[in-house]
Amino acid sequence: MAKNIANDANYIEAARHSLSHVLAQAVCELFDGVQLGIGPAIEDGLYYDFDLHHRITEDDFAAIEAKMNEILKSDTVFEKRVVENPLDFFANTPYKLELVKELVAAGEEITVYESNGFVDLCAGPHVENMRELRNWGFKISSIAGAYWRGNSDNPMLQRVYVHAFPSRKELKEYYAFLEEAKKRDHRTLGNQLDLFFFDETAPGMPYWMPKGMKIYNKLLEFSRKVHEAHGYQEVVGPQLNHSSLWVTSGHWEHYDDNMFKVQIDENNTYALKPMNCPNAMILFKKKNRSYRDLPLRFSELSHLHRNEASGAMHGLMRVQTFRQDDAHIFCTQEQIASEMNGIMDIMDFIYGIFGLKYTAVLSTRPESFLGDIETWNEAEAVLKNVLDTRFGAGEYIVDEGGGAFYGPKIDIKVYDALKREWQLCTIQLDYQLAGNFELEYTDSDGKRKAPVVIHRAVFGSLDRFIGVITEHFAARFPFWLAPVQVGIVPVHKDHERYAHDIREELVQQGFKSTLDTSDGTMGNKIKSYRNELVPYIIIIGDKEVADGTISLRVRTGTQINGIPLSSFIDACKIMEQAYKIDLIENFDAD
Ligand SMILES: [Zn+2]
Ligand SMILES: [Zn+2]
Repeated sequence: MAKNIANDANYIEAARHSLSHVLAQAVCELFDGVQLGIGPAIEDGLYYDFDLHHRITEDDFAAIEAKMNEILKSDTVFEKRVVENPLDFFANTPYKLELVKELVAAGEEITVYESNGFVDLCAGPHVENMRELRNWGFKISSIAGAYWRGNSDNPMLQRVYVHAFPSRKELKEYYAFLEEAKKRDHRTLGNQLDLFFFDETAPGMPYWMPKGMKIYNKLLEFSRKVHEAHGYQEVVGPQLNHSSLWVTSGHWEHYDDNMFKVQIDENNTYALKPMNCPNAMILFKKKNRSYRDLPLRFSELSHLHRNEASGAMHGLMRVQTFRQDDAHIFCTQEQIASEMNGIMDIMDFIYGIFGLKYTAVLSTRPESFLGDIETWNEAEAVLKNVLDTRFGAGEYIVDEGGGAFYGPKIDIKVYDALKREWQLCTIQLDYQLAGNFELEYTDSDGKRKAPVVIHRAVFGSLDRFIGVITEHFAARFPFWLAPVQVGIVPVHKDHERYAHDIREELVQQGFKSTLDTSDGTMGNKIKSYRNELVPYIIIIGDKEVADGTISLRVRTGTQINGIPLSSFIDACKIMEQAYKIDLIENFDAD
């Protein structure tokens, strides 16, 4: 494997895996009776599974790392060779033997890599020489139990995880990133700020507390406003639908495992909707549609339920119930381009408001597809054209053959403040569902035709989106989204009346403010608002009452005294109406 292409993903993977051999050799040299499992490269390093009598603990990490560094000091090459009698060769290594037997049965050639006298079953690739790994930054991160081949009937092995990056600097940066990501974990912040929680009686189904609900409702309001401006009409379909609906839509056959079902009697089973699509089809069918009605854009913000494997759940990022800013567009083939552009305009606007960058992945026709190839080609050309224009040719990813059998799609990947990638939503063209429901419209030539259906969302799951932006903003939400926008602290009891008037005025103007008239000290009240990450704290003392002004503590740390309330309210209106991310800190009266 060629070196000096450290940014090449394949090289990095080969280097990480090569390091796993070094880890294995180190463990074998330090401890007795080690049997080796497997040692692949992973996203941030590598691991190796070991079976040995000694129980590896954190206390062993330093010794293992030292041994690894010692091995790396040699200039040994990783030598690949073919094993002639693999079953004999691996006879005393039960885990390897199991793998070898399968490989031999599959007619595969058995190869090993040898370095420094250490030999391991391996197909490669590796780096050429130990030297290439010497400047890598690596550190054993953890030890965990792992069943051999992930099967709980098998023995439990000891899995040693290692973080590994091409330089020590990159390893350090990675630890800084992990630290920051931990601080921003939405589950921790959500708990600290009383936004949401989960209870074991409803796994993966969030309880939204009053403050969390403020954010949720603000997003719903924002979404409704944007979509209405773009010609969407909101609808709501039933939460629970008879199996016959799911049979028609194909969910009963293809999405069965992910649906929560309710059996009413022996002949009737209903299911909570995991998606809005079939209900949108019924809504279209309700009226006689003509080409003049198209494009028809139905948006729906209903609750959805999906039965997920318990291991797949993770705070708000993977839940079993959520609301989506979902929509179904019914249009003609000719209208696809303008609808796609309309959807992308909404994305530009919405993601821009949150300061989120995004890219697109176009997935094209798979080998088995429904519909005629001409229509597919035409649709793909339209989607490519839209993406070329918006992102620039070659500036988005194309997944050839990765589309669904019923139409090409565009997946949207969003990048947060830590440059992490989130797949928020998909724009899916659908040539199938309208047919399942026998949807038709009368075209200008009088003929009955099936509309094209576009499924799309922008936030995707609102619950998940709140998780993403909580981490993106580190819960320092923009003014317009903050559950409490202004906290008011009177210095003394005497100042409470004026403080009440201030709060009254803010509430009148539609801003979320609270007044702290508890017995605590001024310092503690300010601290408590600070901990709540409230954008502005107003402090009212003698001077403010006498001058009819307010003093401000901005969340950024700035302190400003003697501002007329009207100037502050003007600034609040600007932040609210323009959905500003940054807090205004300049309150000139003009
Ligand atoms: Zn290997
Ligand atoms: Zn849909």
